[in-house]
Amino acid sequence: MINRNPLTRRYNAIVLGVGAMGSATCYELAKRGRRVLGLEQYDVPHNLGSSHGHTRIIRLAYYEHPSYVMLLRRAYELWREIQARVGEQLLRITGSIDAGPADSWVFKGSWQSCLEHDLPHEVLTGRELNERFPGYQLSPETMAVLQPDGGFLAPERCIVAYVNAATALGAEIHGREKVLEWQPLSDGGVRVTTSRDVYEADRLVITAGAWDAHILDFLQGLAVPERQVLAWLQPLRPELFTLTNFPVFNLLVPEGRYYGFPVFGIPGFKFGKYHHFEEQGMPDQLDRDPHDYDEAMLREFADRYFPQGSGPTMSLASCMFTNSPDKHFIIDLHPSFPQVSFASACSGHGFKFVSVVGEILADLAERGETRHNIEFFRLDRFTGHDRRPETGDRHSMPPRSPVPGPRSLSGGHFDDRISTLAETGKGAIRPFW
Ligand SMILES: Cc1cc2nc3c(=O)[nH]c(=O)nc-3n(C[C@H](O)[C@H](O)[C@H](O)COP(=O)(O)OP(=O)(O)OC[C@H]3O[C@@H](n4cnc5c(N)ncnc54)[C@H](O)[C@@H]3O)c2cc1C
Repeated sequence: MINRNPLTRRYNAIVLGVGAMGSATCYELAKRGRRVLGLEQYDVPHNLGSSHGHTRIIRLAYYEHPSYVMLLRRAYELWREIQARVGEQLLRITGSIDAGPADSWVFKGSWQSCLEHDLPHEVLTGRELNERFPGYQLSPETMAVLQPDGGFLAPERCIVAYVNAATALGAEIHGREKVLEWQPLSDGGVRVTTSRDVYEADRLVITAGAWDAHILDFLQGLAVPERQVLAWLQPLRPELFTLTNFPVFNLLVPEGRYYGFPVFGIPGFKFGKYHHFEEQGMPDQLDRDPHDYDEAMLREFADRYFPQGSGPTMSLASCMFTNSPDKHFIIDLHPSFPQVSFASACSGHGFKFVSVVGEILADLAERGETRHNIEFFRLDRFTGHDRRPETGDRHSMPPRSPVPGPRSLSGGHFDDRISTLAETGKGAIRPFW
């Protein structure tokens, strides 16, 4: 047990959860000269959350909503900044394919974002795509957007890079130290109690991923963990699944929406199905073991659309999405305690934004506002609460918070508010599926 005097351990900011978003936030705050403590319940990095599995797609063409493109431009800049700082390639450009029926939201949405933001792109039929990239075997009537800036990030290496860069700048990061509760203080700061110690800080940033709703009660039903399973199959023709011959993809077919990658990191063509079998639950209760039936469903997809990639199984893994009702992120200040900010429910598409979310969370912690447009990530689109101060300066920090009891993290359950909240949400943002 490490024994420290909490009164001498005051930080500018504590970051709760050092996975993807938390590691980038630690770095961004340390870069600004802030005294930062990052607290992670498991190892750094680990494979029990949402940020493992060797690859995550990044793409500029964004069928989910064209508004993400501005953030993505900054995300690309910041990914290049961190990889230059640590001297390691984290981002690989392969081009990205968004494909589906001609009238599908995946194809049309991707194309729309390219047109709206003047992104270089090509529109290909299934036949043209199969000829250009023979690892693909899509039906000829499929339509695809090929956007050359797409590619993937190496998620575990990104976390390592951010943690190393943050600690080199003076951040303290503790693995295997679980946060048990947090409490707002009368001086406007926070006190955080962990499995090892007690700390105080001016700001608390909550980046606990699938555990966010344990920590922030109001996220119950709004940030819902979901089991995912990934497969790596040995390609029968490996030369078709290399970084230069196989763009990352998002593909909508009658069986569902799938995504995949060239061979990288470990052997095998990796792919998965969005929302897999739609198994939701508490993060510590979701089944982490891949089963034969998971494998069978995934293999059926590869047999049909990527037959040259559908050799022997090399690896299977499970992971967790954390979904919001409209599948857009939730990034905001705490509605009652503005010294607390959070990022949550990145709904299976958050990793590519990690670099810019780190910047946003550092802005929110420092100033209560950010230079980025995060209006469509605000919590009040679900809750209808307006936490804005009446002064009209929505981002200024209110003077002092009331001081309630500690926020214990032990409880928490998910209820069935999702559909109700989706229905009563402000409606300005359309869900994208
Ligand atoms: C299978 C899969 C595929 C995906 N594919 C893509 C993709 O291709 N492209 C893309 O952009 N996105 C993708 N995503 C989404 C993306 O990976 C996630 O949005 C992102 O990794 C989430 O990061 P996070 O920091 O919120 O969560 P995590 O990285 O899981 O971090 C949360 C951390 O908080 C810690 N924590 C929780 N509670 C406590 C506590 N009480 N005390 C201390 N620490 C705590 C956890 O241990 C964890 O390390 C995918 C997700 C999955 C699961």
